[in-house]
Amino acid sequence: MRFKASRSILTIDPYVPGKPIDEFKREYGISNPVKLASNENPFGFSPRVNDAVNGCLSGMNRYPDASGHELTRLLGEKYRVEPSNIILGNGSDDIINLLANAYLEPDDEALMPHPAFLMYDICVKTAGAVSVKVPLKAFAIDLESMAAHIGPKTRMVFITNPFNPTGSAITADEFSLFMAGVPEDVLVVVDEAYIEFATDPGVYNSLDPLRDDPRIVTLRTFSKAYGLAGFRVGYGIMDQEVCSILHRIRQPFNVNTLAQAAACAALSDNGFTAESIALIQEEVRFLSEELAALGYPVLPTQANFFMVDVKTDASGLFEKLLPMGVIVRSMASYGFPRHLRINAGTREENLVFLEKFKLATAR
Ligand SMILES: *Cc1c(COP(=O)(O)O)cnc(C)c1O
Repeated sequence: MRFKASRSILTIDPYVPGKPIDEFKREYGISNPVKLASNENPFGFSPRVNDAVNGCLSGMNRYPDASGHELTRLLGEKYRVEPSNIILGNGSDDIINLLANAYLEPDDEALMPHPAFLMYDICVKTAGAVSVKVPLKAFAIDLESMAAHIGPKTRMVFITNPFNPTGSAITADEFSLFMAGVPEDVLVVVDEAYIEFATDPGVYNSLDPLRDDPRIVTLRTFSKAYGLAGFRVGYGIMDQEVCSILHRIRQPFNVNTLAQAAACAALSDNGFTAESIALIQEEVRFLSEELAALGYPVLPTQANFFMVDVKTDASGLFEKLLPMGVIVRSMASYGFPRHLRINAGTREENLVFLEKFKLATAR
């Protein structure tokens, strides 16, 4: 290599996103693939989003509102927090990056489950710090082991709840017990990208009721329940001091005008959101039952996706499904060589998936 990149960045495994649908169509010549690979919302977004986005197109020659005033105000109202507790991001990925860059120095450690959402590791290493990866236990975050790994160098802990990729979740009691062992100067980042899909009322929800604990940083996103993944908008709710530090290093225009308008409109349409979530929960149930009936055990889930034991090489099955127009996610690179991760599609998509799945697994 001619130019010397930072040593810690050279240790990062590149993030491999699900194949974009257009690329897939070109490659396989399939016009309407069924994509159940990226936990996106198959029911799209509120029609109010269309109007809001169209309404601000004529102002797109101007820079966005750097303060995200209206969206921040709406979120503050919804969760009963001050605007100074809220930061917006270009997806919640953006905020993970801000946290790592603001609070981690070389040699500092950030704890995370393993396997986990790859952005944690990427952002920690980008900051030059060290990822300490704590293996899952029975497909769930091992909170006891996480607590046991907290040491003098630990500055940050990542918790995903519900957990991607297994769909497991932590209860409020489990979380409290864990927090009792966390030092006062360690940030606990609770990534709740899928919390809106949880069906079990016992699942820990960091904003309901809001805990006044400066260690807790809540991350949420409009990419999943609100169907706005392509717009890129997420938010963090946290202690005012932590929030003000993140604001210092955030790009002033990190959330673009269309994304802000889309998120405000989506937030205003509670009816659409509730219906969309209920439909997704129903489809998760449907797919899980159908797969279980075929003899493929599905892990219990609190999210809009689940993992299924396909009782064969999952990567091979994934490859077999692609030319049939079905895109799912093999969990082989996550250390589960016999599992696929599948998110709920529409009923129509799910029926196509089941038909192709049966064909691909027939012998
Ligand atoms: C999808 C997802 C997010 C959200 O990412 P955005 O950048 O907001 O689109 C965050 N965390 C996890 C674990 C996810 O799966």
